[in-house]
Amino acid sequence: MKKLSNAIIIVHFGELWLRGKNRNVYIQALKRNITEKLAGEAFTLKDDYDRLIITPGRRSNIDDIASKVSKVFGISAYEVAYIAKPTLRSIVSTSISLIRKEGLKKVKIIPHRSHKEFKFDSMDIIHDLANAAQKIGAEPVVKGFESQIYISVKKDAAYIYSEKRRGAGGLPVGTSGRCVVLLSGGIDSPVAAWYAMKRGLIPIYVHVHGFSSNGEASSSKISRIVKLLSEYYPSGHVYYIPSHIFQMGAMKTGKYELVMMKGFMLRVAEEIAKKEGAGAIVTGESLGQVASQTLSNIAAEESTTIIPILRPLIGMDKLEITEYARKIGTYDESIKPYKDVCSITSKNPAISMSPKLFKSISKDINLPGLARRSIKSGAALQ
Ligand code: ATP
Ligand code: MG
Repeated sequence: MKKLSNAIIIVHFGELWLRGKNRNVYIQALKRNITEKLAGEAFTLKDDYDRLIITPGRRSNIDDIASKVSKVFGISAYEVAYIAKPTLRSIVSTSISLIRKEGLKKVKIIPHRSHKEFKFDSMDIIHDLANAAQKIGAEPVVKGFESQIYISVKKDAAYIYSEKRRGAGGLPVGTSGRCVVLLSGGIDSPVAAWYAMKRGLIPIYVHVHGFSSNGEASSSKISRIVKLLSEYYPSGHVYYIPSHIFQMGAMKTGKYELVMMKGFMLRVAEEIAKKEGAGAIVTGESLGQVASQTLSNIAAEESTTIIPILRPLIGMDKLEITEYARKIGTYDESIKPYKDVCSITSKNPAISMSPKLFKSISKDINLPGLARRSIKSGAALQ
């Protein structure tokens, strides 16, 4: 049997084509992100009309590269394809090797020729390959197939693959700018960060912690969650902000402490956004998920924030968010015990606070001042 070699990855970027004039900017960003994701691998990346072709070098493994590619946003679909010469003979023998390797049985043959000057046509491919497939016990069928074999014939080569894989979708990270993600140790905010990246935003993380030093915070599970998220884009910039300055200042706010704390976090995030040139704040809030996440509390806590606050999970159930957390890979780390500052504030938080009251308490406790001092005593760690 001919051994399959010469595998490549064909990358499609669907949605990017909708972007008319900016198309090139998006494709360049995608190429940069793929190159960064594959750092350490041997490969070449080439344009091929409306797609990209990744060719692994000798010391790299195609499956490792494919698994990395599956996490790059902006890729709508990709295929691991084997290269044959653009001759009927080579196409048939490579296809047979693939049918064997994957153990394909009821297989539909799907040829596509973008170069039509060869002596053979699609019917010849189907005919010869069907014959050869039968000889090795596969059953070429049109209806009721269990698998497919795609044969894409180009001028210089034919690409043969059995599976169209779904990519991470979305837009290349960086094409929508930067955002500040309010990251807790919980299940939700890492999923929100993932959604922000999916829509092209580079995340800068802000975590408010209750430890006595930033060093303790940076060696907590937060840094591990950030590491998992950086699988989707290598940005691990985290601001660790201590909560004690706020807690001292907000001691007398009683049942409003939690809403004030959220307001404090937004204030901190907004200051950092200005410094970092980020255009939005992202949180993992979903409406009504916990007693304090009421519309009125949300309205109060954001009443003094100017930059847009994005809440990608606002309409999702906990179950849906949990499924995503598992898929993304952050779930196991998120459920490990952690003392989030929100859980050490008042036991019976207000479920309804007016913006007016929020603004008046903010003034009393000098919330902007508390935020600034906290940022000063925090640290940005890579
Ligand atoms: P999560 O699962 O993300 O912790 P949650 O269901 O626990 O969310 P809340 O505690 O109300 O809900 O937090 C809502 C959002 O506020 C979080 O998703 C996150 O964006 C932000 N947040 C909460 N705690 C912190 C923190 N310690 N540091 C930074 N942001 C936080
Ligand atoms: Mg939480």
